[in-house]
Amino acid sequence: MHKLILKPGREKSLKRKHPWVFSGAVARVEGEPKEGETVAVRSSDGEFLAVAAYSPNSQIRARVWDWKERTIDGAFFNERIKRSVAQRRTVLDANASDAMRLVHGESDGLPGIIADRYGDTVVVQLTSAGAERWKEEIAEALLQVTGAATVWERSDAEVRHLEGLPPRTGLLRGTVPAAPLMVSEHGLRFEVGFEGGHKTGFYLDQRDNRLKVRALSAGRDALDCFCYSGGFALNMLKGGAKSVTAIDSSADALAQAQRNAALNQLPQADWMEGDVFQSLRRFRDQGRSFDLIVLDPPKFAPTVSHVEKAARAYKDINLLGFKLLRPGGVLVTFSCSGGVSADLFQKIIAGAALDAGVDARVTDWLHAAPDHPVALNFPEGEYLKGLICRVGALG
Ligand code: SAH
Repeated sequence: MHKLILKPGREKSLKRKHPWVFSGAVARVEGEPKEGETVAVRSSDGEFLAVAAYSPNSQIRARVWDWKERTIDGAFFNERIKRSVAQRRTVLDANASDAMRLVHGESDGLPGIIADRYGDTVVVQLTSAGAERWKEEIAEALLQVTGAATVWERSDAEVRHLEGLPPRTGLLRGTVPAAPLMVSEHGLRFEVGFEGGHKTGFYLDQRDNRLKVRALSAGRDALDCFCYSGGFALNMLKGGAKSVTAIDSSADALAQAQRNAALNQLPQADWMEGDVFQSLRRFRDQGRSFDLIVLDPPKFAPTVSHVEKAARAYKDINLLGFKLLRPGGVLVTFSCSGGVSADLFQKIIAGAALDAGVDARVTDWLHAAPDHPVALNFPEGEYLKGLICRVGALG
C-alpha cells in the first residue's frame, strides 16, 4: 500500500480520531498513489495511524476510511453502508417519513459520501476523490443494502471543485424514476426535484423543525423566508396559520411549492418571488407585521474564511425579522453554515435583537434531524443550528 508520512507531531488530530489529514501535515508520500487511491497514514516515526483516501488536489489531502489496517474494497462499502442504514432504524420513527438520509459522510465513517432515500430512489452525492474512486462499489452497495429501484447520482455540489472533480449527475443503477418523485413527511406530501433541485432534491435536515413550526402556527400571520419548495410554509398552513407569506428568489422553487400546497389540499400561501433582504426592508417600510417568522437562508459561510461577511448577513435579516414581529411573536431562525458555530450564531442573534430594540428569549435550540448524526470526533459535522426566539417585554 502507498504511504503518507506525516511531519513530526502532526499525528495528534488523527489520534483523536479526526478523519482529515491536511496538506500542511504531510511530510512525504511514498509510492505513487493516484487520485482517490488508498494510502496508509503513518506518523514521522513510522507508527501506523489509519487507512485513508488520497486527494492530491485538495487541502484535505487524505480522508480516513478506517483506523485499522485493512483492505478497502466493495465489501468495505457494503459493511459500512449496512451499518449506517441499520442505525437509522434506531433513531428515526418509521412513520415520520419515507425520505431519510442514509449516509451522512464523515459522521457515518464514509467521508465524502451522502446518500438520501426518497421512497424507492436513493440519491447519492460524492464529494471527495476517495468517494469518486469507489463510485461503482458504493452504488452497488446502496442498491444491495436498500433494495431500492434506483441509485441516482447528484455529484454537482460546489465542494467538488476543491477536490478537482468535475460535476456529474445521472443514473448509476436501476431505472430512471418516473418524475416527479413524491415523499411524505409528517403527513405532508412533497415533490422532490432529485434531478435539479437543491442538495439531493429536498432539505431532509429540517424535517422535525418543520413540525415544531407547525405547532406554533395556529391563528398566526406567518412569514416563511427562503421557502424553497414550501417545507415550512406548508407546515404553517397545515398548523392553521391565519395567513402565510412565503418568499424565495427561485421561480422554479416557488412553482414547486405551489404544486406541493395543491397536492396536500391546503390553501395557497402568498408566494412571493424576490430577494429576502429587500423584501424584509419593504415590509418594514410598509409597516407590515407578523406573529411568526422563519428565516432559513442558504449557506452564507461555507468555511470559516467567509464568517465575517456571513455574520453581517445573518445580523441583517434577523434584525429586520425581529422588527417585523408583533409583541409575543416568534422568530425561528437558522444557519446552515459550517463556518458559523452555534455559539457565534446565538451571539449574532442576540446582537440583532439588541439593535432591533426588542426583548427576546430563546425557547428552543434546533438541530438537523437525527438521520444527520454528528460524530463526536467530527464537530465540523454540526452545520445546522437554529433558535426559536419569543419576542416581548416581560411583565
Ligand atoms: N426552508 C427550505 C430550505 C431553504 S434553502 C426548506 O425547508 O426546504 C434556501 C433557499 O433560499 C433556496 O430555495 C434559494 O433559492 C433561496 N435563496 C437564496 N438566496 C436568496 C435570497 N437572497 N432571497 C430569497 N431567496 C433566496
